[in-house]
Amino acid sequence: MGRPNDASSHAAMSQDPDPHLGSTTHVPADADADDLLESIRHATIEDALERLSANTGGLSSEEATRRQATHGKNLIESGKKRSPVLAFLSNFTHLMAILLWVAGTIAFIAGLPELGVAVWLVNIINGVFSFWQEARASQATEALKKMLPAYTDVIRDGQEQKILAEDLVPGDIMLLAEGDRISADARVIASSDLQVNQSTLNGESNPSRKVADAVLEEGLSPAEIPNLVFAGTSVSEGNGRAVVMRIGMDTEFGKIASLTQNMQEAPSPLQRDLDRLTKQVTVFAMCMGLIFFALSMFVVREPFASSFIFALGMVVAFIPEGLLPTVTLSLAMAVQRMSKRNALVKKLNSVEALGSTSVICTDKTGTLTQNEMTVNHLWTATREYDLTGVGYAPTGSIESQGTTYRAVDDPDLELLLEGGLLCGNARLRAPEDPEHRYEVYGDPTEACLIVSAQKGGIDPAELERRMPRVKELPFESRRKRMTTVHALEDPIDGATRIAFTKGAPNEVVRLADTIRVGGRTVPMTEELRARIMEANDGYAADGLRVLAVAYRPLGAQAAREGVPASLSAYTPDTIERHLTFVGLEVMMDPPRPEVAAAVAECRRAGIRIVMITGDYGLTAASIARRIGIVDGDDLSVISGFELAHMDDTELKRRLAGQVVFARMAPEQKLRVVSALQEMGEVVAVTGDGVNDAPALKKADIGVAMGVAGTDVAKEAADMILTDDNFASIVAAIEEGRAVYSNIRKFLLYILNSNAPEAVPNAVYLLSGGAVPLPLTTMQILTIDLGTDMLPALGLGTEPPEQTVMDQPPRDPNERLLNRRVLVKAFLWYGLMGSAAAMIGYFLVNMLNGWPGVPLAGLADEADPVYIQATTMTLAGIVFAQIGQVMNCRTEKTSVFKVGLFSNRKILVGIAFEVVLIVFLTMFPPLQGVFHTAPLAWQDYAFLCCIPPVVIAIEEARKAWLRHRDAARAKRGGAR
Ligand code: ATP
Repeated sequence: MGRPNDASSHAAMSQDPDPHLGSTTHVPADADADDLLESIRHATIEDALERLSANTGGLSSEEATRRQATHGKNLIESGKKRSPVLAFLSNFTHLMAILLWVAGTIAFIAGLPELGVAVWLVNIINGVFSFWQEARASQATEALKKMLPAYTDVIRDGQEQKILAEDLVPGDIMLLAEGDRISADARVIASSDLQVNQSTLNGESNPSRKVADAVLEEGLSPAEIPNLVFAGTSVSEGNGRAVVMRIGMDTEFGKIASLTQNMQEAPSPLQRDLDRLTKQVTVFAMCMGLIFFALSMFVVREPFASSFIFALGMVVAFIPEGLLPTVTLSLAMAVQRMSKRNALVKKLNSVEALGSTSVICTDKTGTLTQNEMTVNHLWTATREYDLTGVGYAPTGSIESQGTTYRAVDDPDLELLLEGGLLCGNARLRAPEDPEHRYEVYGDPTEACLIVSAQKGGIDPAELERRMPRVKELPFESRRKRMTTVHALEDPIDGATRIAFTKGAPNEVVRLADTIRVGGRTVPMTEELRARIMEANDGYAADGLRVLAVAYRPLGAQAAREGVPASLSAYTPDTIERHLTFVGLEVMMDPPRPEVAAAVAECRRAGIRIVMITGDYGLTAASIARRIGIVDGDDLSVISGFELAHMDDTELKRRLAGQVVFARMAPEQKLRVVSALQEMGEVVAVTGDGVNDAPALKKADIGVAMGVAGTDVAKEAADMILTDDNFASIVAAIEEGRAVYSNIRKFLLYILNSNAPEAVPNAVYLLSGGAVPLPLTTMQILTIDLGTDMLPALGLGTEPPEQTVMDQPPRDPNERLLNRRVLVKAFLWYGLMGSAAAMIGYFLVNMLNGWPGVPLAGLADEADPVYIQATTMTLAGIVFAQIGQVMNCRTEKTSVFKVGLFSNRKILVGIAFEVVLIVFLTMFPPLQGVFHTAPLAWQDYAFLCCIPPVVIAIEEARKAWLRHRDAARAKRGGAR
């Protein structure tokens, strides 16, 4: 990323901080913000700086601290948060809760106070639990936000520094570069084609040009004033410097933000799906309740009150009260787990899209490769050189055919190394401890060019002094090259300035009409061009990255060729022409070691990888092969140029096969993403630059690079990789898949207890009361509260099943609650639980005698055998649930393989269930309320058999499923 380097800013930078500054602060803390804006924009640069008590050398740290004490932190205060009391109360005022309040009241009126209390208790516990879950989920997302602090480059104490954006104070000098988010309102004091996207302020998506001159024109809205930049906007092109005038809530953005802060995140498709599901199940439960009520009143002829209570039990049993908060919490937990694996997800919604991602469009440099460049070859028209040494330490030498060369030994080599070094913005810092590595600031591609020059004996500081930079035409992915202009101490052939251009070889060669050969400049011929490209292709085929270096003296000849004299008129169009080609710098950028395994995992998981890179086709294809993205010979490499001339039908045809996109302009990513989406794929795409933003937004999952990415890309993305590593995307996909399957697991678990709760009632009704009600309403409430919640929560935290990446991506249209889940919940697990419960019930009667059944229907509630029998039904269901929670943990894998005791949360849930049951049956005051009685040892013996049997039956089915899959795979393989 370039920084302004015109003469004025260079001169300005060299000034020391004003020693007088800091004693007093002239910035009026309470100055009327609008007056300040007006006076500053009318002022000259010097006046503006003076008014803000600033200078171009930046504030001193002490002064900055002092100003922060006066002005506070540069923060947009978060708007009025929803009061926790209201948030808490909202859990008791939704439709379901109101229903339960009413039901409890009716129970009281009907003279059943314990039942009324129990129903209300269900409601209260549910509400508290939901509130707790929501609070934890929002804590998790808040914590995530803090992991993404915003930084700003400033000049403090006369030096460039990166500080937290919240520490900006009025008077700070901000350095603005392409892709930066601007963090305060500021007056521009240097601009090199600075263009700013102000859409956050005025909705205008075309960038606005910003200049450093005073603006006297009246009647402009703040955003229209060309010498001011505003917080919340971003640099879309060029670079510049600006002095901060307003921060925090005083900024234009602060004013708008205070109006719009309370916007809430839209619910994700999954949350909507669940909301719908909860409503559907509620309606279903109400219908069941009505049917049971009618049957009880008219078939069994129960009185109104007991029929109502009976029906109420059914309704409560069926409604999955805590489902939505449980899902939100497990999404939030997944987001936290992802952050530990270097993927920061900005919205819960994205977790789902990750789970169904079917194509990853990834760039190469830095994501698949290490972005640790080392120049290992140099090429000039007369000689090819090899370089020794790896990394950024300047230790190594330049050799050719056994002879060691210094830059001074060969004028072409010298020009190549000097051009490579001067035409870049990277800096290297030597480690204090020689054991440590050199630190790189800026683009690694540029850093390695400094090292190659040092290996040739060039001293960067000395060279920069001899040829100071006067102008930069920054690197653009679209142009694939950059140029810097330098003043010459000793004019060469009358030229007082020289331009160095470096970039993609074909882009540079095309613009060169002369070439250096053996220290002389000769005309470029087609043959020489072919030789250069042949050398380039040879290196690229080995996966190496090649940059070309050229120069142009800016003297009388250039003036004749139309180069204006003024620096401000130096543009790519005027300068990057009539170049003299010097040579190639060839660098290696090895693949990241963990990427090959991640690629293989994607292949198993049915996820395709499409490489979209700005690099050369042969280099891209070679790396793609090396890490396993493509195999075999049927690979098509599509260049940006080809793509521009390709229609959508052809593009889609090519996308169906193995394809690598090379020499792509960032804008073209959007087209590839759109085509893939039209083909029905769920697309994740990576990006780092300003121009990647549209593709990042369009993709189902936009992935920005946390280290090399610009603020603009990070803002547009859904997920940010803190290590820029491809493998982290795959890890996030795995978590995304796991969370979806976990939600399904606990849905299955919550639903599966419904059948055992309903069946005893059905038996009672269908027998016309001959079989006394085996499970009372109070007991149903116990199951709902005591057994459904905690183990379900444990299921939400199951780690990804090993097989989760062995399956193809989930169809995004597939419903969470499909027929398979319903059948499994009600007709398989549900029936097992019902059988356990009913057998338990009849067992007590078999051992202790059938209770006396009065003709009216209900058994005598005081009959100890009857109470013991219903307690057994309750305990039977709870013990069956212990087996089922284990069964729900895996879909096909044996639960013994993942470890029966490996999920602590589930074990705690089970322990809670068992203790609850024992407590309810043994503790006399509770016995009265919950209609329970102590169980005999024979009863416990029976209960203990239930979980193993339930698990064994399901394990047999899972084994059969695995066997069937294996047989299918074998048949598929044989075919
Ligand atoms: P990827 O798109 O996979 O990240 P990339 O770094 O090659 O790979 P771009 O940053 O778009 O993609 O660069 C495109 C090309 O421009 C590079 O292949 C290289 O030839 C050239 N290039 C890259 N960085 C610079 C630079 N700092 N100065 C001059 N040319 C550069």
